[in-house]
Amino acid sequence: MSTQAGHPTILIPGPVEFDDAVLQAMAHPSESHVGAPFVNVFGETLSLLRQLFIASDPASQPLVLSGSGTLGWDVVASNLAEPGDDVLVLHTGYFADSFADCFKTYGVNAFQLKAPIGSGPSLSKIEEELRSKKYRIITITHTDTSTGVLSDIKAVSEIVHRVSPDTLVVVDGVCSVGCEEIQFDAWGIDVVLTASQKAIGAPAGLCIMMLSGRAVKTSEARKAPPGSYFASLKNWLPIMRNYEAKKPSYFATPSPQLVRALHTSLQQIFRAPLSVRFETHKAVSRKVKSAIESLGLRQLANTPADQANGMTAIYLPEGITSPDLLPKLLAKGVVMAGGLHREIAAKYFRFGHMGVSVMNEGLGHIDKALAALKEALAEAGYQKAQA
Ligand SMILES: *Cc1c(COP(=O)(O)O)cnc(C)c1O
Repeated sequence: MSTQAGHPTILIPGPVEFDDAVLQAMAHPSESHVGAPFVNVFGETLSLLRQLFIASDPASQPLVLSGSGTLGWDVVASNLAEPGDDVLVLHTGYFADSFADCFKTYGVNAFQLKAPIGSGPSLSKIEEELRSKKYRIITITHTDTSTGVLSDIKAVSEIVHRVSPDTLVVVDGVCSVGCEEIQFDAWGIDVVLTASQKAIGAPAGLCIMMLSGRAVKTSEARKAPPGSYFASLKNWLPIMRNYEAKKPSYFATPSPQLVRALHTSLQQIFRAPLSVRFETHKAVSRKVKSAIESLGLRQLANTPADQANGMTAIYLPEGITSPDLLPKLLAKGVVMAGGLHREIAAKYFRFGHMGVSVMNEGLGHIDKALAALKEALAEAGYQKAQA
């Protein structure tokens, strides 16, 4: 039995449902952010993040900052690129537009490589673009939460290292870290940025990053000072190194309660091998997607290779809107999300399936949601077209 107050099941692409122990970690009494108990927990949390990202190079550095995933964009744009630099943003939906806006805020020229909704730019287009100009950074949204499109970050990184080896490979993993495989060192990635509230399964409020040794060096070698104070790596890198060495250190007060919740969720993640976690997300995703197909509904992401495993973006049937469907789902105790991609937001909805709702089958969240969806669609007047 869950110790949580009764509530509708949250199956949106973040925030996700919490495990009881993660929530209970938030109830830890107040403590000093430089006292040994908290410093030890923070240090262990950073070490667990190295394991989560499969990053063992000692020159690399994990960071945990108070903020949301968006802060990770500011860290990248204000520390790893300089005003006037060109960066290439691969577009698979809403989040690329926002990352590009963030670069522009710091005077960095962001070029977006776009593709039709439901897919990503092809590897050959990416290679061609990288050959055409010197890009300081390439960004890839691993799972675009607005479309459910998954990008092949391993293949893109391979191209970058082959044709433009000085370009830093930056992955927006806000909706993928914890539910999709990422091998930071082996795939030659320079930055993964994410947030606490998606597949990692902790409350919102933490920006989590992994930087390669090369990214650290780039930030140290920059000519212009970083255009941000709170997001400055010069300010944070020594602090994170100290915490990881379990030494107290201060630049700005971290949130002990959130870090304890993250620590607990990471410990839970490592109760099973990561490979099992990723396979379980794939299996549950296949189950959701085949249920969607048998209802006669279509996904935004075109081919199975383009489809994320932690969420599904689904076109609404003709004549049914999100304001019709979502309240009917809520009445059955399930919360899903409306569309987000600017061009087609009213035409689809999103079903998040990551974290504890996937890993703890006994909770019954996914079956409940699929049953609720079928009933809610029927109540809204939907009938599957005859084949
Ligand atoms: C949610 C999300 C973000 C933004 O994260 P916040 O925590 O809302 O700031 C960025 N990128 C992707 C892919 C996301 O899913």
